Amino acid sequence: MKALRWYGRRDLRYEDVPEPSPGEGQLKIKVTFAGICGTDLKEYATGPHMIPPSRMPLTPGHEFSGKVAAVGKGVSDFKIGDRVSGVGYYYCGECYVCKKGLYNLCVNQGFTGLSTDGCMAEYFVAPTYACYKLPDEVSFEYGALVEPLAVALHAVRQGKVNPGDTVAIVGDGAIGLCVLLAARAAGASEVYLVSKHRGRGELAEKLGATAVIYINDGNPVQKFMDITGGPGADATIECVGRPDTPQLTAELTRRGGTAVITGVFEQPGTFDFSTITFTEINMVGSSIYVHEGRTAINLMTDKRIDPGCLITSIVPLEDGAKLGFERLISDKDANIKVLLRI
Ligand SMILES: [Zn+2]
Ligand SMILES: [Zn+2]
Repeated sequence: MKALRWYGRRDLRYEDVPEPSPGEGQLKIKVTFAGICGTDLKEYATGPHMIPPSRMPLTPGHEFSGKVAAVGKGVSDFKIGDRVSGVGYYYCGECYVCKKGLYNLCVNQGFTGLSTDGCMAEYFVAPTYACYKLPDEVSFEYGALVEPLAVALHAVRQGKVNPGDTVAIVGDGAIGLCVLLAARAAGASEVYLVSKHRGRGELAEKLGATAVIYINDGNPVQKFMDITGGPGADATIECVGRPDTPQLTAELTRRGGTAVITGVFEQPGTFDFSTITFTEINMVGSSIYVHEGRTAINLMTDKRIDPGCLITSIVPLEDGAKLGFERLISDKDANIKVLLRI
């Protein structure tokens, strides 16, 4: 079968590899669409970060939709031909946090496309607990967005977003824009996005952002307070992962509100802790998802979330490097979610 294989920085090759077979409790999936995630892009552009060099070459990708091609031993809840989507995690089910149901925090966690071969291939395998049947109402294109939407829905839960709340989002990447959709679905009345790229900011307005604040237009905290009249957001969700974004996130948050950190950081930053001492802002992390993949499908089924305009292009798998990864690096205004057609 054909797959995109990652050999190192900016070196993705379209190659023949053997077809995988499903292990116990796993599905073999014939992939229809694979999405390029920010994590994949970071590994490609400046990595390896999370992929152990000993694992290379590796097939990337964890955002997918497709059909079940074979089932492993012990699988009874899926059958060949089922339309499916899913998420990327592997968990052990036996560590302290897994036993509490906090599978996203598993100490033995693995991840599709980072620790095992991923979905940028004709076939890949995934555990059944990370797969969900797609109802007819959800297209394969939308199915490929289940994983980033699950990340966003978990972040909104971590932020305890309630109906009527004001939410601020730091970051205009696919996750930031998915958080916008998730916050709206959770009933937030006003959702503000701190953006860097005009093209993405304009898209955020189409997706229902109350207003977009451009980081290069002067102090974004001042701008936010001017537009809203204060007192700050009930919840602010950081979706960037740069050394200075946690500080900005806390400063956009009202006293007693919640600041959620979802970014993946390569370098430490500095943080002025007096920002939270006297304001009692709760700062919490948000790591992937637990069962929010199912929630994402439910919200797309009844159209409370419509992520269609996040998909900026669909390109053939074999052109994934040139028309997908490279374009996402060079033109962030025009490209947000690129799907690979397989
Ligand atoms: Zn992803
Ligand atoms: Zn575990």
